[in-house]
Amino acid sequence: MQFHEGSEFAAPTGSTLSDDTQAYRATYRARHIPAWYRGELHAALTVACVLVPSLYCGSQLHDVRALELSTVPIMLVFGSLFVWTLHKYVLHRPMPGLRKAYVIHTLQHHRFYTYEHNEPDNRRDYYITLFPMSFGIGLALITLALGRWVVSAISLNVGLLFTLMAVTYYGLYELVHLASHLPNDAAVLRLPLLRALREHHRLHHDPRLMGKKNFNVVLPLFDWLCGTYARERPSRCE
Ligand SMILES: [Zn+2]
Ligand SMILES: [Zn+2]
Repeated sequence: MQFHEGSEFAAPTGSTLSDDTQAYRATYRARHIPAWYRGELHAALTVACVLVPSLYCGSQLHDVRALELSTVPIMLVFGSLFVWTLHKYVLHRPMPGLRKAYVIHTLQHHRFYTYEHNEPDNRRDYYITLFPMSFGIGLALITLALGRWVVSAISLNVGLLFTLMAVTYYGLYELVHLASHLPNDAAVLRLPLLRALREHHRLHHDPRLMGKKNFNVVLPLFDWLCGTYARERPSRCE
């Protein structure tokens, strides 16, 4: 994987940054990314916030019945629905009280990464790629509260599986989205599934598609069900 550590503005391998994208990236970095920020640490903390609760929940499971195990596929379907809805309605529309999410995603993330310029210049650009840690911690706390409710309403095993799958889906979202913005020659992109998901998300970064198509990142089930699945870029006249 080839980053351009020495030069913040060198183009990723195989492409040339347009003047507009280059200027926006320079402005974004100067305004938003603190000097102390380390992308590797951000990624490691994100993985830790997923692994610790999911391993704990997994270790507490006992005598799981087949019916309780159905929580796993149900949560995969729910995760796809949740991401599709959040992405389409919260991240791409300025909703009252949630405008900050729209600003960070539509106005910043989508301008930093376009279909043509889909790769970071170095790991400090993970700042605009991964969710802020505050979002991950907030989501984890809400998940734990919901998990406790599921324990009291259904059973301990279903509550543990609910929490495990919710944090795991969040972790998968973060990892697949990060992989979707890695350089084209990154080793993980030799996996055909990751490569296909990367292209699915890259198409979403085409300004003509971003508010309409490819809202899923990990499991494109609801893009398929809701008619928002794009397999290629629109022709020039569309
Ligand atoms: Zn993206
Ligand atoms: Zn988007």
